[in-house]
Amino acid sequence: MSTGKIDVQTENIFPIIKKFLYSDHEIFLRELVSNAVDASSKLKALAKMGEFNGELGQLRVEVKLDPEAKTLTISDNGVGMSEEEVGKYLNQVAFSGAEEFLQKYEGKAEDSGIIGHFGLGFYSAFMVSERVEVVTKSFTGAPAVKWECDGSPEYTITEAERAERGTDIILHIDSESKEFLEEDRIAGILDKYCKFLPVEIKFGTKTINVDDPSGEKDENDQVKQIEEQVDNIVNNPSPAWNKMPADLSDEDYKKFYRELYPSSFEEPLFHIHLNVDYPFKLTGILYFPKLKNNIQLQRNKIQLYSNQVFITDAVENIVPEFLTLLHGVIDSPDIPLNVSRSYLQEDGNVKKISSHITKKVADKLVNMFKNDREQFEKQWDDIKVFVEYGMLTDEKFSDKIKPAVLFKNTEDKCFTIEEYRDLIKEKQTDKNDTLVCLYASNVDEQHAYIESAKNRGYDVLVLDTPLTSHWLQQIEMKEEKISFKRVDADTVDKLIEKDEVVESNLTEDQQNELKPIFEGVVNTETFTVQFESLNENDDPVVITRPEFMRRMKEQQEVGGGMFGMGNLPEMYNMIVNSNHPLVSKILMEQDGEKRQSLSKQAVDLAKLSQGMLKGKELTNFIKRSVNLID
Ligand code: ADP
Repeated sequence: MSTGKIDVQTENIFPIIKKFLYSDHEIFLRELVSNAVDASSKLKALAKMGEFNGELGQLRVEVKLDPEAKTLTISDNGVGMSEEEVGKYLNQVAFSGAEEFLQKYEGKAEDSGIIGHFGLGFYSAFMVSERVEVVTKSFTGAPAVKWECDGSPEYTITEAERAERGTDIILHIDSESKEFLEEDRIAGILDKYCKFLPVEIKFGTKTINVDDPSGEKDENDQVKQIEEQVDNIVNNPSPAWNKMPADLSDEDYKKFYRELYPSSFEEPLFHIHLNVDYPFKLTGILYFPKLKNNIQLQRNKIQLYSNQVFITDAVENIVPEFLTLLHGVIDSPDIPLNVSRSYLQEDGNVKKISSHITKKVADKLVNMFKNDREQFEKQWDDIKVFVEYGMLTDEKFSDKIKPAVLFKNTEDKCFTIEEYRDLIKEKQTDKNDTLVCLYASNVDEQHAYIESAKNRGYDVLVLDTPLTSHWLQQIEMKEEKISFKRVDADTVDKLIEKDEVVESNLTEDQQNELKPIFEGVVNTETFTVQFESLNENDDPVVITRPEFMRRMKEQQEVGGGMFGMGNLPEMYNMIVNSNHPLVSKILMEQDGEKRQSLSKQAVDLAKLSQGMLKGKELTNFIKRSVNLID
């Protein structure tokens, strides 16, 4: 047997890096600016530890574009490098100076916010450059050096001139990457990845209006404004999520929201400030947006950062799915960024982070409910989709949030489930001792049904999100003896089945005689004709849609549910009120044509109240009605 070491030749690895290091070439700028920021953070950390006693001055990174020379330069006044360090850090692929720094100063520099990890970021420069120059001077006063490399493994190191400590990374942009010589493109990348890096980043200058120093006034008696060129700082080095909640006002949080989403018109409802130190590091601010019913469109607004460097806004494997409806920022250096996304969910830290955030969100909602119920009730309509989604997809969230889940009725009153039980138990317990909660999903469309339920002394809830039917299923399973029925699921007598029996005016023979007449005027694939003994004051014909069938259909529409395949047909019951005088009249009518026209009229009236009468059927109905009046 023999063992050996696979020899990784830099010749072979370089072209691979160039092509595949990051699928997104624009990332090179994030990497180089992060390195420059790291160089500044290191110097700050050294100063704090007493290892650097010189003037820190204003630490700053500058990005400079020179389209004529075809160069993009990233400069910093951080630690810089000696010749030896250049040899060590830049000539060894995958040797991370950042890791080495943290190891060397173990226990002292963890809070310094140093970003680098993998020792690869620098090489991403070659994804867009035909040649890279590094001019650097160490803070130790060692002579400045210049490192130069054209993308082949050969490099040169020479003496160089640099007045102050720090580093310039000069990229000679290659012909395929011309886009990175455009000001707007660079500004866009800086805004995306570097917006909250902890050291000031300058990119060119900008024009602002300032008071005229002469103090001269205009016609409105205001000091005249003159234009002034100032440095264009592209980032906010101390974003709100890194501050203490006690130091921030409500307005500060809203301001930060606008900073994150400059094009958003809506204000968030409220926020949660995350701040964990142990067993993992996590900071961030999550905002509750006003959610519309269309859930799919509103995802992926959370931005993930690692030590203030933007990583991604696709957080779906990092936070539970329902939390992707929230907005805001999560910053954690403990989320591994070098593993494939599908592995993320399995990562121990990610799991902990995920359940921590879930708990925080549930706690926040429960506290809001406890501390200011009135306000919470006002916001309920805007957050209920979120709560339902969370309850359906996350068992722990479902258990935690339970005390703050509200049910709102048609009079706009809110109840917890326990309060609601008390309210309706007397009138809405059926013969099997099950509490039947009635609800409407649209108070206008289901108006007639709501009214007849209320006339019986029943209360009606409004449950109207796209997830309602999934969610009710869950509540029915978890809660004791409770069931939900939409007001149009049955005739009012049958919604809540009691033992009382209402006598029918029609014998079975009479019903058998009438049935084919009604079946002759409806589409029997959609409608099932049935007789029921309703009150004579109720409508002659009522259309209902069985709860079970409707839920199946709705669940299929949102996804999930029992029947994954095929389209479920729309099915309704056409209930003929055997106690209504019109029905007796139809039975007595001897003229076949008139009989048919009366039953058609009764059926159409029922359809009309459900908004189901349209087109030609509606025109015919109107004509027939006019004839009947004559
Ligand atoms: P990482 O940042 O992950 O450690 P890089 O390949 O990006 O890896 O950089 C390698 C090393 O080169 C860094 O760790 C750092 O020691 C050094 N370096 C890179 N850029 C600079 C810079 N602007 N100033 C000082 N040192 C730098």
